[in-house]
Amino acid sequence: MVTHQPAAASGSPCRSASSATPVPPDTTAQPGDVERDVPHEECGVFGVWAPGEEVAKLTYYGLYALQHRGQEAAGIAVGDGSKLVVYKDLGLVSHVFDEQVLSSLRGHVAVGHNRYSTTGSGSWENAQPTFRTTATGSGLALGHNGNLVNTAELAERLRELTEGAAEEGRTATRRDGTPPATTDSDVVCALLATAAADTGLENAALELLPALRGAFSLVFSDETTLYAARDAQGVRPLCLGRLDRGWVVASETAALDIVGASFVREVEPGELVAIDAEGLRSSRFAPPEPKGCVFEYVYLARPDSTIAGRSVHAARVAIGRRLAVEHPVEADLVIPVPESGTPAAVGYAQESGIPYGQGLVKNSYVGRTFIQPSQTIRQLGIRLKLNPLRDVIRGKRLVVVDDSIVRGNTQRALVRMLREAGAVEVHVRIASPPVRWPCFYGIDFASPAELIANGIDEDGIRRSIGADSLGYVSLDGLIAASEQPRTRLCAACFDGDYPIPLPADRMIGKFLLEGLDGGAERGVAGPAEPAQPQGNGAADALRRP
Ligand code: SF4
Repeated sequence: MVTHQPAAASGSPCRSASSATPVPPDTTAQPGDVERDVPHEECGVFGVWAPGEEVAKLTYYGLYALQHRGQEAAGIAVGDGSKLVVYKDLGLVSHVFDEQVLSSLRGHVAVGHNRYSTTGSGSWENAQPTFRTTATGSGLALGHNGNLVNTAELAERLRELTEGAAEEGRTATRRDGTPPATTDSDVVCALLATAAADTGLENAALELLPALRGAFSLVFSDETTLYAARDAQGVRPLCLGRLDRGWVVASETAALDIVGASFVREVEPGELVAIDAEGLRSSRFAPPEPKGCVFEYVYLARPDSTIAGRSVHAARVAIGRRLAVEHPVEADLVIPVPESGTPAAVGYAQESGIPYGQGLVKNSYVGRTFIQPSQTIRQLGIRLKLNPLRDVIRGKRLVVVDDSIVRGNTQRALVRMLREAGAVEVHVRIASPPVRWPCFYGIDFASPAELIANGIDEDGIRRSIGADSLGYVSLDGLIAASEQPRTRLCAACFDGDYPIPLPADRMIGKFLLEGLDGGAERGVAGPAEPAQPQGNGAADALRRP
C-alpha cells in the first residue's frame, strides 16, 4: 500500500506532495541475472509549457513513451503560476500515476522524470523531480538525465554555501522534512535554489551550469517558467518540440510524437532554454563541444527516435549491414534477440541475403520488478524473458543478432536454449564492439571486472557462450552507421577514450554521496588517490558499482 500526503506547510506558496512508501529494500528490486546482464539506461526527462492544456497528462504520456530509459521511479511537478506541486514514487509511470492524481495536478508548466539510479541508491528520496524551496519561497523542481563527474566538488560548494546562507538566515531548504537525497541531481537543484534567491533562477542557472562537468540533460521549472539545459558535450539527447499552444522538451523525439508535438530542433550542447509567457529564450552557457553517446544508437534510445538528425532505427539496420560485411557466415536463418537486436538483424539479413525470421518471443512485461524471484524461478533464467519458436528453429543454422554483450550470461543461456530447441549451428553477431570500459556519463554497465570482454579475447568469449562463431561490429563500422563524425561522438565504453576528463578514484561512483565509496563523508569524497592501472590498463581503478 502507498499513501500520499501533502508534505509542506499549508498556505505556503509552494508545496510538495510526497509519499511514504513501504516498498521492500532495494535488494528485492533485482529480478534476476538476465536483467543484470544488460546495460541499464539512465533516465528520461520531459517538460511542457502549455497554458490551457492538461500539462500533467501530457507529461504522463511523455514519460510513458520514455519508460525504457528508467523504470525505478517516476515523478511529475506541475506549476500554476503561484505554486509548484511534485508527485513522485517508486515504480513505473503507470503504477505511480492514476486518473485521480493526474487530475489533481493542475497548472500550465510541468516537468517529469523516469529514473534508473546511476547516482545514489534507488530510494524514494532520490526519485525525481527533485524539489527545493528558495529562501524567497519560490519552488524549484528538477529532472536530470546523465551523470556528473564533479559531484564531490559541487557537494563541497553546496556545503560551504549552505553554511554561509544559514548564518545569514537564507537557505534552499526542503520544506517537507524528507531526508536528503544522495544524487548529483539533488546537489544541482540545491545549488540552483540557493543562488536563485539572489539572482533569479535563469541567472542562477547561467552561472551554475558552466561549473557542472559530466553529462546532463536537465529539465526544471519554478511556478511559471520551463527550463531545459544540455551539457556542452551533449552526451545525452534532449529535443524541443512545439504544440499548438505551447512547447515541449523531451529526452527523445519519440516522446514528442506521442504527445502530438512537432519536432523543432535539439537543445544544443551548452544551451539553456527558458520558456514562459514571453516566449522562448535561448542562452549559451558554454561553447559546444559535441560528444554524443554512440550507445544511444545501439541500444538506449527508442528505434523511432532521431538523434542528431539520424534515425535510430536506420542506424541499427545499417549496423546490421556492416556486421554482415565484417562477419559473413553460411546460415539458414537470421533471428534477432528481441527487441533491441531486431533492426540490426533485419540489416544483417538484407545484406547477407539470408532469410530473416522471428525465432524468439519476448515477454515484454518482464522488466524491473519488485517481486523477488525464488530460487526455482530464478533458475528459469532467460526463459522468463525469451521463449524459442521451436518449429522455426529446429534443424536450422542460425545467425542470432543481439545489441551488446555485457557479462555474457544472457548469451550463454540463449545459445544453450536455441540448441535445446533444435538449432544445428548458432552464430552470434553483436551490433556493438566489445564493452570494456565503464560509463561515467549515465549508463550502468556491470563493473569492469564483470565485463566479459575484459580479460578474454573474442574466441574465448565465443567458447564461453558456446557459439559456433562470434562477430562484433567494429567501432569504425558502428560510427559509420551512426552517420556522425567520429569527433562528435563518445565511444568511451568501447575504446576507453573519455571525452570529459574524470576525477581521480574515490571522487566518483554511484554511491559517492552516500559515503559508500570509501572515504566519502558528508557527500565529499576523501583525498584522491592515483588510479591504479589494472586489467586493461587504465580505468579499472575508476570502479563503478
Ligand atoms: S561511455 Fe559509452 S555509454 Fe557512456 S556515454 Fe560514452 S558511448 Fe555512451
